[in-house]
This record gives sequence, structure tokens and C-alpha cells, in this order.
Amino acid sequence: MKKILFVTSEVHPLIKTGGLADVSSSLPKALVSLGQEVRVIVPNYRALKLEQMPNIIALFRVGHHTVQLLEMTLPNSDVVVWLVDCPEYFGMEGNPYVDSDGNSYPNNPERFALFCRAAIEVAMDRINLNWKADIVHCNDWQTGLVPALLSMEYRCPPTVFTIHNLAYQGLFNGLTAAMVQLPSQLLSPDGLEFHGMISFIKGGIVYADKITTVSPTYAQDIQTPELGYGLEGLLVYRDEDLTGIINGVDDDWNPENDQLITKNYNASSLDDKVANKTALQARLHLPVDEKVFVLGLISRLVEQKGIDMLLDCLPELLTLPIQIVLLGSGDKDFEQQLQQFAAAYPHKMALTLGYNETLAHLIEAGADVFLMPSRFEPCGLNQMYSQSYGTLPIVRNTGGLADTVVDTLPETIEDCTATGFVFNDAHAGTFLEAIKRATLLYSFPDVWRQLQINAMRRDFSWQNSAAQYLALYESIE
Ligand code: ADP
Repeated sequence: MKKILFVTSEVHPLIKTGGLADVSSSLPKALVSLGQEVRVIVPNYRALKLEQMPNIIALFRVGHHTVQLLEMTLPNSDVVVWLVDCPEYFGMEGNPYVDSDGNSYPNNPERFALFCRAAIEVAMDRINLNWKADIVHCNDWQTGLVPALLSMEYRCPPTVFTIHNLAYQGLFNGLTAAMVQLPSQLLSPDGLEFHGMISFIKGGIVYADKITTVSPTYAQDIQTPELGYGLEGLLVYRDEDLTGIINGVDDDWNPENDQLITKNYNASSLDDKVANKTALQARLHLPVDEKVFVLGLISRLVEQKGIDMLLDCLPELLTLPIQIVLLGSGDKDFEQQLQQFAAAYPHKMALTLGYNETLAHLIEAGADVFLMPSRFEPCGLNQMYSQSYGTLPIVRNTGGLADTVVDTLPETIEDCTATGFVFNDAHAGTFLEAIKRATLLYSFPDVWRQLQINAMRRDFSWQNSAAQYLALYESIE
């Protein structure tokens, strides 16, 4: 049994801006079910959704700040969560990283440096909890200083650093080093320095014992100039310690017992799926029609997700006999352009701006296909949810999408492995062609049904991925 400190800046259902939050609850749960002792440590943001009052279990100093450590369990689980309470840094309402205009908080370096230092005090058992980590598992740039600073400690536990998205690096100007009092040994180009800036993510990539990303293909993708953001050389250098472990899907995403959908179903009762389609149409004021081909999309509305490609497709797409259901928020320009299409085609397109967990489940259950034209995708979750719901994903051939969706081709139809539609080039034309391919196959109900069954049979459970993480922890004892 290992003591694993899982350091993360978000965890579902307490606080979530993206897939990191899902992983930060699902992986610890799966590790606990494999007999490990996990503590998830996360900042105590004011915006946390707490159903219980956490207990104060420690009080300690980090620099000139007094920090409390609070304890609770993750809702509906045995996973213990430790909250780093420092109201000066985490007491604001709203998003953990950006203000209501989408601008990063100016004191993000100080905020996350404090979080990292607090995690180190905990990992090293310096706050009288009698709990010393055997493994410290850090995630994304917000936790990057943990491996860097821990490397300077005597008898430090080994570290794993997971890159959930290399596009976000925690790059700050050079003065940050002094502001957050980083030791000079860490500041060379072999350390945290990056073209005159300070890179928090380099703290993880340079100093962690093992690096992972959330899919095998993305582990390769980030070693190329196209997706390496200037870190590809370092990642190639660390290739032996870099692996890709695909994320799993949480039990919440199972159409058989999903409480948020209208009618539950499984691969043997797929006729019941249509009740979710009509409920979705009614809820979104689209014409209720069991037969019409419904395309779904749930996403952050940012360039990474290929929203510009979707916008380029819409004029032609909306001439087809389809309905399209979109849920997301993000780039204001994308939001406005989508709003204009939705206003012009109210019978064909429903756009919901914002974050809505219930609607997300209903879209997964009610749509026929799910769109993910991402320019790059470290892992992606919705294409896996979609397959579990018999909602065939239409995805670009990149990162985790390439690893989890099997394109529908004559041979994959024949051997019952086809689970979706894959296109190569990041162009509206190829995306549209894949959508048309799906539309055509939808007119063959028997073939379509078999594709749905193939998709629903895929095993995306966390147990398999958690076992791979555990093997990795064991390799660095
Ligand atoms: P990323 O982390 O890049 O945003 P992922 O596919 O890994 O992308 O994870 C996104 C997660 O956030 C999924 O669980 C998805 O359903 C959810 N999500 C994204 N936008 C919304 C939204 N507007 N409403 C509800 N859930 C959303």
C-alpha cells in the first residue's frame, strides 16, 4: 500500500474548469479501490462547492503566510481531500485562474507557488500529521514547482508529473523568480528559465522522476515542434521517462444508471435512447422529431477545440436535414458567431452558453453523433462518454482522439471494431466530409445500430488506467 499525495488545482465535483477535474477525482477513487492510500490536495477556493464543513487538521507557516489544512472526503467516495486554506490567495469568487473578463489573476505565480510550498510541507510530513508521502503525483503547471522544490529536499519522495495540456504552461516574467523566492539553483535554462521567462511547467518536466501525458499519441505529439511549444527538445530528452496513459471514464457517465437523463438504456435496449433525443429537442425548443439526425457538441469554445472549423462548416451544414445542439462557453468572438447562426436557424440549431452538467448528460444521451474537431487533444473525455452512450463521435485524428476512436471503414464495419468517424486534416472541408459520411450511414439503421453496439462495448474504465499509474509509481520507489 502506498501513500500517494495527488496535487491538483481542481477536482470534480468541488471545482472544475476542464478534464483535469475529472481525472483528479476518478484516478484517486480508482487508486483507493486498488488498495492505495491517496490524499488529494487542492487550494481552498471560495468557489468550492462544499456539502460538508471540512475539519481543520493543521496550521502552519508558508513564507510569511499562515495556512490551514482542512480535511473532508470527496462526495460519494472514501477519498480524503486536503484543502490548502489561504484566503488572501484563494478567497476570491469565481474561476480558479482568471477573472470574470477571462484575464489571469496577476498574482497567479504567488498563489500557486504558495500552494506548491504547502503541498511540499505536507509531503515531507513537516506539519505533524504523521503522514509522509511515498509518491507525489503533480498535475499541470499550477503544481510544477513541487518537483522542482522537492528536488532540493533531503530524502524527498519520488514525483510523477502529468501534463494534461501542454498549451498551458504557467509562463511568467523573469521578475517572478524573485517575487516567489525561487532558489537560484533552479533558475538556469536547464531548470525553470524559458527564454528569459519563468516556466512553472518546466518544474515538472525537468525535475519529476516520471512524466506522463493523458494519451500515448499525445506523448508523441508533444515531442514535435508543432505541438511542443518550444519544449519539444526537453521532452525528447526525457523520452525514456515520458509515457502516455489514457484517462478512463467515471461511473457517472453510464447510460444504464445516469440519473440526469430522461430514460436509461444499454446496448441491448438502444430503442430507449430515442426518449432522450425527444426530451433534448423539447427542452431546447427544437422541433421534436425522432428521425432527424442530431449532432451534439459540448466544449470549451476555444481554438484548440476546432470551433473555427465548425463555424466554417455551419453555412453548408445547416442546409442539411439535421439538428445541431451546442453547449459551451469560452472565446467571446466564437460565442457571438455561434449565437448569430442559432438566431438565424432556430429550428435547426440550439446553442446554450455556459456550464451545465445536466444538459451535458442529456446531450450525450440524446444526440446521434458527437463532434470533436480538435486541433490537438491531450486525451479528451467526451469522445469516450459518447461511445458509452452509443452516440458516435466524429473526431480529428490527433492525441487521445486517435487512441480511442476507431474509424468506420469497410474493414472495421466488417470486424465490428468501428466506433466513430475520424478525419485527418484540420480543415472545415474534411470535417464536413466526415459529418456527411456519418449522415449517410445513419440512413442504414442496421449498420448504425451495430456501430453503436461496438462503441458501447468499449471498456474505458478507470481500473485499467489506474493499474498503469500504480505500475509507474512502483517503478520509481
Ligand atoms: P478540456 O479539459 O480540454 O476542456 P476534456 O474533453 O478533457 O476537455 O474535458 C472536458 C470536460 O468538461 C468534459 O467532462 C465535458 O463534458 C465538460 N464540459 C466542457 N464544457 C462544458 C459545459 N459547457 N457544460 C458542461 N460540461 C462541460
